[in-house]
Amino acid sequence: MSVFTGKEKLKLGFGLMRLPKLEDGSIDVEQTKEMVDLFIEAGGTYFDTAYAYPGSEEAIRKALVERYPRESYTLATKLTAQHADIVDAETAKQETYTSLERTGAGYFDYYLVHAIQRSNIDKYDEYGIWDYVQELKEKGIVKHVGFSFHADPELLEELLEKHPWVEFVQLQINYADWDNPGVNSRRNWEICKAHNKPVTVMEPVKGGILADPIDSVKAIFDRENPDASYASWALRFVASRQNLLVVLSGMSNVEQMKDNLSFMKDFRPLSEHEEEVIKQAQQALNEDQSIPCTGCRYCTKGCPMQIPIPDIFTVENRKKGSPEFRTKREYAIVTNGKGKASDCIQCGQCESVCPQHLPIIELLQKCREFE
Ligand code: SF4
Ligand code: SF4
Repeated sequence: MSVFTGKEKLKLGFGLMRLPKLEDGSIDVEQTKEMVDLFIEAGGTYFDTAYAYPGSEEAIRKALVERYPRESYTLATKLTAQHADIVDAETAKQETYTSLERTGAGYFDYYLVHAIQRSNIDKYDEYGIWDYVQELKEKGIVKHVGFSFHADPELLEELLEKHPWVEFVQLQINYADWDNPGVNSRRNWEICKAHNKPVTVMEPVKGGILADPIDSVKAIFDRENPDASYASWALRFVASRQNLLVVLSGMSNVEQMKDNLSFMKDFRPLSEHEEEVIKQAQQALNEDQSIPCTGCRYCTKGCPMQIPIPDIFTVENRKKGSPEFRTKREYAIVTNGKGKASDCIQCGQCESVCPQHLPIIELLQKCREFE
């Protein structure tokens, strides 16, 4: 089945998880409008938000829905079972109507069961979400149904066999996670291909990590083409795979939008030689010891000790080459008024929701040295 592949005019999708922010922490709607205009002008149509992305659904109403004819773009949003507001089937199903109200979109072109992991799959079953999303489709409230997935290939296989009517799957795919056993980009992508399910790609730049990679990776790409952005290598790697509906990039400012459009508008797949260059970068990453945290912050919401986990990992990753006093100062700043690594009570909540499957408790133990 390739009902969608090729429908979207541009292979790039606008991910709305990391929209630009103003100083007060709210979304910069004016800059978002500018980004939307550039994207649409370049032939972009696919926008991806979620009930769980704070402020995103409202922002896209102002920046897109109220400014463009409804048939000129496609909008995806997601229903989550793992959110502070969601306590039962009723509150989960109510999300659809809240999303419709926030976006003003009237209907959703793509509707996803959000961020499936082994830790939350029972909730989706318990709340009857699989039947519910099919009912939404029958009613015309959503046009196409899929799920976004952050777990192992065995569970993906099981889900696709159990729910063969699912039309597409959203996967984390990037060159750093291609053969990462915690993420399994390659194996999950192969399973979707075998089941004839088109894939929407999330995290092609791994939460921004690959837009500013470690020095050894930068050196490899600079040697090859000093004018190409690091993000362009990451996005072109993903967009060169087959069986894709669209590659989502969570762009955060006008510059990132312009850069992404510069190589995605007239997309050129990686050459054989460039695939080899990516292999060198993968090798360099395998030799690196940095914590591959994408900064999604899913782990912090339920931490009883309010430990700013991704900020502590950023300090750890930056410590290389930095004097000890500076690292300790950075650590003191990020943990000021919050929990420290040593406050961790090892309840395991964070590890159960981390899409990167990081051993957070163990990693925090290591970060106690900054106290
Ligand atoms: S294991 Fe530690 S860091 Fe994780 S949620 Fe529990 S207290 Fe917070
Ligand atoms: S530790 Fe995991 S859940 Fe937390 S921000 Fe990093 S990647 Fe996201």
